[in-house]
Amino acid sequence: FSSQELTQAWLERIQREDAQYNAYITLTPELALQQAAQADAQRAAGQAGRFTGLPIAHKDIFCTIGVKTSCGSKMLDNFIAPYNATLVERFNTAGAVMLGKTNMDEFAMGSSNENSYYGPVRNPWDTTRVPGGSSGGSAAAVAARLAPAATGTDTGGSIRQPAALCGITGLKPTYGRVSRYGMIAYASSLDQAGPMTRTAADAALMLQVMAGHDPRDSTSAEVAVPDYTAQLDLPLKGLRIGLPDEYFSSSLDSQIAAQIQQALRQFEALGATCKPIRLANTARCIPAYYIIAPAEASSNLSRFDGVRYGYRCEEPKDLMDLYTRSRGEGFGREVKRRIMIGTYALSAGYYDAYYRKAQQIRRLIQQDFVEALKEVDVIMGPVTPHTAFAIGEKNNDPVAMYMEDIFTLSLNLAGLPGMSIPCGQVAGLPVGLQIIGNYFAEDKLLNIAHQFQ
Ligand code: GLN
Repeated sequence: FSSQELTQAWLERIQREDAQYNAYITLTPELALQQAAQADAQRAAGQAGRFTGLPIAHKDIFCTIGVKTSCGSKMLDNFIAPYNATLVERFNTAGAVMLGKTNMDEFAMGSSNENSYYGPVRNPWDTTRVPGGSSGGSAAAVAARLAPAATGTDTGGSIRQPAALCGITGLKPTYGRVSRYGMIAYASSLDQAGPMTRTAADAALMLQVMAGHDPRDSTSAEVAVPDYTAQLDLPLKGLRIGLPDEYFSSSLDSQIAAQIQQALRQFEALGATCKPIRLANTARCIPAYYIIAPAEASSNLSRFDGVRYGYRCEEPKDLMDLYTRSRGEGFGREVKRRIMIGTYALSAGYYDAYYRKAQQIRRLIQQDFVEALKEVDVIMGPVTPHTAFAIGEKNNDPVAMYMEDIFTLSLNLAGLPGMSIPCGQVAGLPVGLQIIGNYFAEDKLLNIAHQFQ
């Protein structure tokens, strides 16, 4: 069948099913069919690559030329991006077809997708529950078969946590592996884009398109990109797995722990050995992250001033009124909370007490990983302390919501790659296994995940 037929089938399925999940903010059927027609022409001319004609969805944080790019916010509800993110451009060049833009927590701040201006996303496994966040729309779309694969971003867990709660595969690459150009900034020293897919093999195909140096992102790494699919079948014999004591402590649900232990037995059967390690500063990742991320966010979000682009209030009295009302009306509750925390932490007199200290803790967390990864090849553990929770359950308790990120935040602080792969169920809800590797070891993570599946 042709890419046009394939694309048509996916679009029809989304139109029929997505009312239940709210995974998409924008559908782009005309653009998709146009891209599919091009892909079919390329195939007929014998110029097709591995990705030609394959439909995907993009998180609505990536700028897409001529298409609304909302970042889940009222602030950008009227924003049509004038250029493509590098990541979007790379998929276009590879011949991919964009089905639409997926729902997300406003400006990627959240762990449940309840902070979206476009309403919550529902978990396809149980629609009374959250899909996780902030890439909840991408995770739900892949889990509900409303997209074969999607892109996401991860600042503190936003690829891995929704992947775990929706029973799919999510990979956060090493900081700098994928260009951030045209990806709306949340916390620039932590943000990284990655694939959300059904399988590790699909994630390898996606990462192949995404990864690589981009002169337009000064933090993107000039490190060669390996052939990710070529390594998938390597045997795991001799693999050394580290199990952090701190990850298997009392805060972890015992049934989740049991699923993870079962997965570890499988890896041992494949020839791996497990040994306990220490990541002594694990508990400090939440306070450090929730200073650093809001600090960077408060600075990044200062560009939304009602003047240059985005929401502008009605009939401003003067310039100050324009700023304050545009921001007051355009940003949601959680975004305002982060801006206030970040502005406070960076203000004169408080900088040393909060921001500097958080950066010092960040270094300690990174050193823990560097030391541990001298003794083991990868680290394994849970992605989340619980399975998917009910919509509304934690939404009025920000600290309870922040605690959900305990196993994911440290990797962003350290810049390391991590993957969430499906690993059984507890009471009919999916559980994720986290695999953490050394810098630029995405090929190893994909290999391990592929052998497990
Ligand atoms: N839950 C975390 C936060 O709200 C992480 C979000 C993310 O990775 N974008 O900041």
